[in-house]
Amino acid sequence: MIDVSVFSIPWEEFVNSFVVLPIYGQILILAGVIAILTLAIVLVYYILKGAAYLVYYILKGTYYLIAGLGLLFYKAFRALYYEISGRPKPGNVSVQQPVTPQIVQQAESPIPKSHLHIQSDAVFCTECGTKYTDLMIKTLSNKGSAFCVHCGNGLQANPIEIAM
Ligand SMILES: [Zn+2]
Repeated sequence: MIDVSVFSIPWEEFVNSFVVLPIYGQILILAGVIAILTLAIVLVYYILKGAAYLVYYILKGTYYLIAGLGLLFYKAFRALYYEISGRPKPGNVSVQQPVTPQIVQQAESPIPKSHLHIQSDAVFCTECGTKYTDLMIKTLSNKGSAFCVHCGNGLQANPIEIAM
């Protein structure tokens, strides 16, 4: 017989005392044992679950800590590298606001076609470069539009641009 003891009572003695008990006593003890076992299982389950959560959060926290430290070190070494090498940081370029196509268009052609180039007292056609005649300038200033006598390019003007 293997010497198994329950709460320091020898197993044989325990079984003997159990057998001599009346049937309702046995059922009561069995029910108690089942209840204790169930409680123990539930307790173990929650303990394991808690332990698992603890381990999970510890690992997660460690991961974020390592990731954060890694990023910090990366940034520090990167800054140091650019500081030593004297190269411009590529990150600075991306920081600048992206230029919208509208702004690009305006930047490329700030003066629309058929507008005037004004050089001191002379006005030239943007299409062919012919100097404007006095009649053309007069027509332009009076009507706000004229046609080039050389190439026939239509010209729009506002009074400010042809202030003579
Ligand atoms: Zn012209």
